Amino acid sequence: MSGSKCCIVAIGAHIGDMELTFGGVAAKYAFEGHRVVLVHLTAGERGHPSLPPSQYEGQKAREGRESAQKLGAEFRVLPYRDGELEDDKEVKLAVCDILRELKPRIVVTHWKGSYHRDHANAYNIVKDAIYYASLPGLERGLPQHQVGSLYFCENWEDPLGFMPKTYVDFSDHFDRWVESILVHEFVRGRGLPSDYPYADYYRALARIRGIEAGYKFAEAFMPNEEWGGGRQRIKYFP
Ligand SMILES: [Zn+2]
Repeated sequence: MSGSKCCIVAIGAHIGDMELTFGGVAAKYAFEGHRVVLVHLTAGERGHPSLPPSQYEGQKAREGRESAQKLGAEFRVLPYRDGELEDDKEVKLAVCDILRELKPRIVVTHWKGSYHRDHANAYNIVKDAIYYASLPGLERGLPQHQVGSLYFCENWEDPLGFMPKTYVDFSDHFDRWVESILVHEFVRGRGLPSDYPYADYYRALARIRGIEAGYKFAEAFMPNEEWGGGRQRIKYFP
């Protein structure tokens, strides 16, 4: 799919999730002329150790917008609450409408085997939204759309049963991606002993997945198991 231009939509539970796990490949596609849209179901506004959510929400939105810009991607955030993202029809139909509007060939989201409730719910939301988007009889004011492929990202909070299978090379965009993730305060670290070393983890992971696939840097994904597929070493999503 390196030839024809397409749209890829990545749907994460919180601002930062898709940038960390899909940002390198997002930059690669975006800078080759494809439309890449990062959709965040919540801002992730409850993740700060001292700032109140009402204040952190604005910071998260600014960080998400700037990070997406560096990746060459578009930024959207939905109005759901961090920690209270529900696996319900309202959210699924909101995502269905976005899929019908953007008509992506590829959708990327969280794997279901997560320690985080919002992430596990995002998996269910996206799978059902894809189904709703494809239903011709579901009247939403936009024509039905069939997503071509669904991939799950490799996230440190979603490791239960995750099997890296689709390795996508993004070596030429590694520096741009690092710059984009460091926009996020939580990725840079706040100097607290409890801080998770996001930048170290995801930079090291990109190198490990690169080594496994014979590239310098790669991001690994798991294809939707219901749509089949074994281990793949690829330059572009099939
Ligand atoms: Zn998250």
